[in-house]
Amino acid sequence: MKIAFTTLGCKLNYAETSTYERGFVAAGWEVVPWSSKADVYLVNTCAVTETAEKKSRNYIRRAHKTAPAARIIVTGCYAELRREEIEKIEGVWRVYGASEKSKILEDNTESYIFGAYSTGERTRSFLKVQDGCNNFCAYCTVPYARGRSRNIPICECVKMAREIAAAGVKEVVLTGVNTGDFGRTTGESFLDLLKALNEVDGIERFRISSIEPNLITPEIVDWIASGTKFQPHFHIPLQSGSDTLLRRVGRRYDTELFASRIDYIRKAMERPGGPKVFFGIDVIVGLPGETEELFQETYTFLKERIKPAFIHVFPYSRRPGTKAAEWKDQVKESVKAQRVAALEELCKELHAEFVSANKGIREKVLWESSVKGGLMGGYTGNYIRLEKPFDAALVNTLEEVEI
Ligand code: SF4
Repeated sequence: MKIAFTTLGCKLNYAETSTYERGFVAAGWEVVPWSSKADVYLVNTCAVTETAEKKSRNYIRRAHKTAPAARIIVTGCYAELRREEIEKIEGVWRVYGASEKSKILEDNTESYIFGAYSTGERTRSFLKVQDGCNNFCAYCTVPYARGRSRNIPICECVKMAREIAAAGVKEVVLTGVNTGDFGRTTGESFLDLLKALNEVDGIERFRISSIEPNLITPEIVDWIASGTKFQPHFHIPLQSGSDTLLRRVGRRYDTELFASRIDYIRKAMERPGGPKVFFGIDVIVGLPGETEELFQETYTFLKERIKPAFIHVFPYSRRPGTKAAEWKDQVKESVKAQRVAALEELCKELHAEFVSANKGIREKVLWESSVKGGLMGGYTGNYIRLEKPFDAALVNTLEEVEI
C-alpha cells in the first residue's frame, strides 16, 4: 500500500506527521511523494489563517485529482474546527479532530489489514468484517498468528458494501476467521451489522461464511428468515462429530447444540416446495485421540443427523506451539488419508442428494462472466451451480430458473 503525506502549519504538525509516517512504514506501507499516485493521502491541516485553510482544501482536491479512487485522511487544526465542511469535499475518507488523532494509525493500518474486499469477480465480492480469534482451540494457531478477535465498525462495513455496489457487484459474502464474533472491538452486534448491510442498495444477495454454531442464534436466524437479502446458505465449522473430541480440543458447543441449530435454521427457512438450505460444514479428521470409533461418530453424525450439502474435509496438521501438538496420541498420516477419502466420498453422496432434493424448485441464479466450453455458470441462492449456453446479456443478472 502506498501513502503520501503533506503538512501545513506549525512544527507540532510536522512532528506528528513524522510519527504517522513511521507508523505506516512499520505497518509495511510505502511512503510516496504527494504528487504521485497513492492508495491513501494524509493531509495534516492548519487553520491559523484563512490562506492556510484554503491551502489545506487545495491539497485535498489535488490528491483526489491525482488518484480519484484513493482515500484521503484529513487531520490537524482545520479538521478540528471545520469537520463538516471538509467531509463534503470529494475523496475525503476520514476526518480526525484533535482528540481523535491517536486513532489514525490503528484505524487505518487495521482497515487495510482487513483488506477491505476482493474485486476479482464482477458478480461476487468477499467482504471481511472480522479477524482474529479468542477461542484458543487446542489444534489451532489462529489466535497466535492473527491475534485476538477484532472488527471494523458497522459504518465502515456499510461504506465498503456501498463501494462494492457502486462497482456493480450484486453479491457479497461476509467473511472473517469467526464472522459471528463481530462486535468485540466496537461493542456492536452481528445482527445489527446484518441489518445495516441489508439496506445497502445495489447488493442483491448476501451470504455468511465461517460462523461458529453457537453464534448463529435463533434471533439472527429468525431475522434472516423474515425476508432479507441473506441467502439460505451457511458455512459452519463442526470440526468433529464426537463430543469427546469437541470437549478435548475446547470447542464451545457439543453435537446436540450443533444439530439443534441446524434444525432451527431448516425449520425457519425451508418451506414445502421451496429451496433447501445449503450447509457447508468444516471437519478436521485425525485430531489427536481420534480412534476409529470416534471417527465413526463423526461419520454417522454427518450422514444421518446433519446431512449437509457439502463437507470441507481437512486432515489435522500438527502445529508447533499449540496444545494438541504436544499430545501423545497422534493419528498416523495413512489413517488420516483414509478418513479424508471416506468423508469426501460421503460429501459426494450428500451433495447429489441435496441437488436432487431441490429438483423442480424455482430459484434465482446470478450468472457469472466466465465462459467454459461455450457455457456460462452461476449459483442459486442456496448455492447450487447451474450452467447454460453463454449469453452476454445475462452476465451479472439474476434470472429465475427451475433447478
Ligand atoms: S479453530 Fe476457530 S474458533 Fe478455534 S481457535 Fe481457531 S480460529 Fe478460533
